Amino acid sequence: MPRPCSKCRSAAAEVELPYAKLRLCPSCFSDFFVARVGRTVEEFRMFREGDRVAVAISGGKDSGALLHALRRAFPGADLIALHANLGIPEYSAHCQSIAERLAGELGVELRVFDLKRELGVGIGDFQRTQFKGKLCSACGTVKRHIFEDMAMRAGAKALATGHNLDDMVGIMLSNFLFGYWDQFIRLKPVLPPLADGMASRIKPLIRSPEREDLLYCLYERIPFKELGCPFSKGAKVRRMAGLLEAASEASPQLRHQLLNRFLELMPLIEASRPKPEFSKCRVCGFPSQGDICAYCKRIALVKGALDARSAD
Ligand code: SF4
Ligand code: ZN
Repeated sequence: MPRPCSKCRSAAAEVELPYAKLRLCPSCFSDFFVARVGRTVEEFRMFREGDRVAVAISGGKDSGALLHALRRAFPGADLIALHANLGIPEYSAHCQSIAERLAGELGVELRVFDLKRELGVGIGDFQRTQFKGKLCSACGTVKRHIFEDMAMRAGAKALATGHNLDDMVGIMLSNFLFGYWDQFIRLKPVLPPLADGMASRIKPLIRSPEREDLLYCLYERIPFKELGCPFSKGAKVRRMAGLLEAASEASPQLRHQLLNRFLELMPLIEASRPKPEFSKCRVCGFPSQGDICAYCKRIALVKGALDARSAD
């Protein structure tokens, strides 16, 4: 005999949330998920009603759940979806088609930046550079810059990304263990804009476990990609997330507790660190800690490698 949902008490429970001592039916689970996204936005004052909010969507389950839940939690918000086509054969076309479907279903405007068309390079071209063994690092820098630029051009006050609870705690924990304090601080739920006209960066899924993003997508029939990136290697962060998932079986509140303790620590660590000094990148004009920003350096590098190949 299935047990009833702890909220509505009528439908059969399908989702067990031990950390919240809840057992929910699909409909109450979706309401719970959306309400938590709404509360997280309010808790960290991520944006205000009427603000234009850009949402970076990759075609994956996390960013898909994010856009869908933001639409439901803030029906009056001025949302705009952003997607970067990374020029990875087969995979990128698949991701873009999912992003187009999702934005179309939600009636949200979608803007796409196509790396190959705009810059003449794809992420795979970094294999010809010193980033050969760490494509994800180059890809992360490129995507960050592209989304910040798109958000600014769209006039967005905030740029939302789909980092979930497991991502956050996994990355925070490894930065904490290795003492990478500057990177640790960069994981704040809200990063203020680096310059006038830029968007703040926000993480409304910071309290949503990864598994629940997937469940929300399945219950709400949100399209998400079925292909994996061919360059993904199951990075260290994934291993850490796996460990945390296993530890959470024994201690259901572990990830939530770690997140809360880390959030308490952040302002203390931030106050103890020297404030980074920013000037303007000589090439793109974005705030940069050096003469030329990391994005422009990487794009010049990959273009140089392609030019050298065609000169051979
Ligand atoms: Fe980019 Fe790595 Fe993600 Fe592929 S797996 S999209 S290379 S960050
Ligand atoms: Zn630059």
